[in-house]
Amino acid sequence: MISHYTLTKKTFLAGAQCLKRMWWEMYDPSAPETRPGLVSRFRMDEGAKVGILARTFVPGGRLIKRGGRSLNVILADSKEALADLSVPAIYECAVIADNALVFPDILQRVDGGFCLIEVKSKTSVSEQKHIPDVAIQTHVLRAAGIPIVRCEIMHLSRECVYPDLSNLFAREDVTELVEARLQTLDREIRDQLITAQLPIAPNVEIGAHCKRPEPCPFMNRCWPVAPTDHVSNLYKVTEKMLAEFEASGWASIRDLPDDVQLSAIAARQRRALREGHRVVERETLLEAMKTLAYPVAHIDFETIQPAIPIWNGCRPYDQIPVQLSCHLVNADHTETHSQWLFDGKGDPRPGMANAILEACKSAATVTAYSSQFERGCIELVAEACPDKAALLKGIADNLVDLQPIVRENVYDEKFAGSFSIKRVVPALVPDLGYDDLPIAEAETASIQLSRMLLGGPTVHPEEKAELREALLEYCKRDTAAMVALSNRLSELAH
Ligand code: SF4
Repeated sequence: MISHYTLTKKTFLAGAQCLKRMWWEMYDPSAPETRPGLVSRFRMDEGAKVGILARTFVPGGRLIKRGGRSLNVILADSKEALADLSVPAIYECAVIADNALVFPDILQRVDGGFCLIEVKSKTSVSEQKHIPDVAIQTHVLRAAGIPIVRCEIMHLSRECVYPDLSNLFAREDVTELVEARLQTLDREIRDQLITAQLPIAPNVEIGAHCKRPEPCPFMNRCWPVAPTDHVSNLYKVTEKMLAEFEASGWASIRDLPDDVQLSAIAARQRRALREGHRVVERETLLEAMKTLAYPVAHIDFETIQPAIPIWNGCRPYDQIPVQLSCHLVNADHTETHSQWLFDGKGDPRPGMANAILEACKSAATVTAYSSQFERGCIELVAEACPDKAALLKGIADNLVDLQPIVRENVYDEKFAGSFSIKRVVPALVPDLGYDDLPIAEAETASIQLSRMLLGGPTVHPEEKAELREALLEYCKRDTAAMVALSNRLSELAH
């Protein structure tokens, strides 16, 4: 029978990371930190679609429906299906035992018992994340008398290339890893059940466990906000370095003595903080800016990553560019803006190929910020459009990246150890931000693009029109920011 203290897979996994996290999730279920936002709702929906498709690869099974039915009815249905030897597989059954409730994705009947199959919408097995998940299910199923003789994780396979989806999933045997994890499970469940009955959250110190296997949603509650000069904001600082700094009593980057070996960039960061002003390496910055021959095209892409590929030659989670913004700046500083956004019909890559070539046709230099991403996008489009591949590859090979120009030559305290465009632009061009935009960062843009282009009738046409406007504004702001940043870098160099 389910009680207030019955563990679910979700609470167990939270407790496996941290008992305080588990307690908060149980007793503060409407905490803003755990309320699913756009990103997690989208990921959950996508996971559900992958789960449904996975069942077709273990066919002939019986689905235990949940919607609107009481847990007791679902449990009874599950019991009946498990006992019926004519049912080769059971999807989403409910099993409760040892104060824990689980809903295994697939139980496939095999010699001597069942194979437990956990479906993941990832492309590989994460030992830290997935094994405890399968272990708690195995524990509960066995405690209920269901013989689990094999455990598998069924995940999306990057070997799969559309249109052939026959190998969309890979099944990995994780039985040994699960058996090893089960050794400590009794004690963990006991500790969790004790914690679940505490009147207040247990006291747990912050530490490396807060970030693994995933960042805890309560970091803002437990972790003090680090000032920008804190050693944790040192450029490319490692956990080992942080431990050494802490042991030596150095909390601020300013405190780090000269004989602490730092990279040139981190040393510039220390210098900027000690001197209390922005550091600019004028000579080398000027040299770097001279590589931008006019006209300069500043380009930026937005992409979608369908879990299940939908276009020829694509694999699960290929990052497909579907939106382009380009600001073309002439030597006299006049500029023109062009943009392209996929309309959702057919394959986006031929349209994108034309848009890239058109936007960059008169440019002597094409820039991107953190250009590895843009280079990958152009190469992916080139692969799909052999007739334009040579021209596209020419652009990809000659992309000038603005990020290393900043990184190697400028440090401002407001960067706080990061050279992302969202950190650099507000520090160097304070008038240009993203706060006024309805879509203000890349992950949200990617999800809204997916919803708008692939969401079908689940997204109202009016919302689609609004999203389109917001996405165009967002991508345009990125390239406008690159223009403003280039101008600012030129000023700083002189
Ligand atoms: S931030 Fe760390 S200590 Fe706080 S609840 Fe999360 S995992 Fe536990």
